[in-house]
Amino acid sequence: MKHTKIVDLLTGKNLLHEVKAKGWVRTFRNNQFIALNDGSTINNIQCVVDLDKFPAELLKKIHTGAALSVTGTLVESQGAGQTVEIQVNKLKVYGEANPEEYPIQPKKHSLEFLRENAHLRVRTNIFGAIMRVRSTLSYAVHKYFQENGFFYFNAPIITGSDAEGAGEMFRVTNLDLNNLPRTEEGNINFKEDFFGKTTNLTVSGQLEAETYAMALGSVYTFGPTFRAENSNTSRHLAEFWMIEPEVAFNDLDDNMDLAEDFIKYVIKYTLEKCQDDLVFLDKRLQDEEKNKPQAERSGMSLLEKLNFVVENNFKRVSYTEAVDILRNCKPNKNKKFKYIIDGWGADLQSEHERYLVEKHFKCPVILFDYPAEIKAFYMRMNEDGKTVRAMDILFPGIGEIVGGSEREERYDVLVEKMKAMGIEEEELWWYLDTRKFGTAPHSGFGLGFERLVLFATGMTNIRDVIPFPRTPQSAEF
Ligand code: ATP
Ligand code: MG
Ligand code: MG
Ligand code: MG
Repeated sequence: MKHTKIVDLLTGKNLLHEVKAKGWVRTFRNNQFIALNDGSTINNIQCVVDLDKFPAELLKKIHTGAALSVTGTLVESQGAGQTVEIQVNKLKVYGEANPEEYPIQPKKHSLEFLRENAHLRVRTNIFGAIMRVRSTLSYAVHKYFQENGFFYFNAPIITGSDAEGAGEMFRVTNLDLNNLPRTEEGNINFKEDFFGKTTNLTVSGQLEAETYAMALGSVYTFGPTFRAENSNTSRHLAEFWMIEPEVAFNDLDDNMDLAEDFIKYVIKYTLEKCQDDLVFLDKRLQDEEKNKPQAERSGMSLLEKLNFVVENNFKRVSYTEAVDILRNCKPNKNKKFKYIIDGWGADLQSEHERYLVEKHFKCPVILFDYPAEIKAFYMRMNEDGKTVRAMDILFPGIGEIVGGSEREERYDVLVEKMKAMGIEEEELWWYLDTRKFGTAPHSGFGLGFERLVLFATGMTNIRDVIPFPRTPQSAEF
């Protein structure tokens, strides 16, 4: 007999029939009640064991974490909080989990402890919920783009272009470390590290995506990107996933519309598909909030925050307006944050961004038209000659979630800009071809997938929303 996923058993469709479930023991109470979970849902199914039916030797093997196959009759449950349970007739133990050694026990583990056990933490309720939400969100990403006429394009992981990531790249090498090539002066010749060329792990698939948008019209990449971030913040990883759509003939306004529509869609989809997981994460957060001082409480539950984003327009504010707001705001009494900004032209610090989103507008904010000096070379210059058609989307509790722009499509202006920023034309000859042949306005953005998962789950540390976080401290396995 084939086993049924617990998520399907819990619908109660096969009541009074014989069913089989396979999964891992969450708890075994009073030598009689097994809470079994198979990962298909956050909910366990209760399996009731009649002590007299099974040898004590077998029951001794049942501990938290053990893998079982359970066959029995599906009946209505008398217990509170569950609709159905299995009256067990047959029991098989696939693998035990010695409670003396197995780290994941039925108690509240700290997130730090679980991070040290990244290979086992998905066996807890909280990480099961996060990873199911993450999976649903990634499906929604593809669904949105595929249903809106975009083509999925795979940007290369190993790339020679380093125009964007000055200082943040991981070099790729096939050099024999015992026999390194040397320059005439005797120094190691790192220029030859990849079959005679210099190569890096990609920091963004954008430049390549632009070349594809200029033929397929609307494309998106969704893949891993790498940045040698040594910042150790709760928002940065060395390896993260980025969603990057790029659309020909779209301007900055179209780009803002696309980003807002996209984010609302994926959050709405996840609200519909991950109800049980989100309710669990919501409750966990509310319990945590209760322990905080009143002033630090957010006031909105996770579900309210997600619904708020789906139902309300993002506030669109130019960089210049934002600087005015920051200049005129009252300095914070407890001096924890410095909201006051140096002046027009300075980059916004995360405390500025958080002030705008959390204190001033109290909703997601799209900032646009940034000073050209603080943005990348490829952004479209505005007629004022000072600002570029850039946008950042800022989210409550997170800060920057999206960075995007309309691209500079004019060949001469782009070359001039590259010169001013010290970028060699030869290095990006292939990119310049998009402007030389059939150039057209186009725009796109990059959204850090883990920051989206952070928002959707209410988690606060980016290490907790990716299976195996890569940071300066953790890249062990
Ligand atoms: P930040 O200001 O947070 O360092 P950024 O401006 O350097 O981000 P972009 O180059 O604009 O980042 O990349 C686009 C998006 O990728 C960002 O808006 C963010 O969501 C995400 N992102 C950037 N760096 C990281 C990182 N190290 N880890 C996780 N996500 C990141
Ligand atoms: Mg950065
Ligand atoms: Mg930034
Ligand atoms: Mg950015």
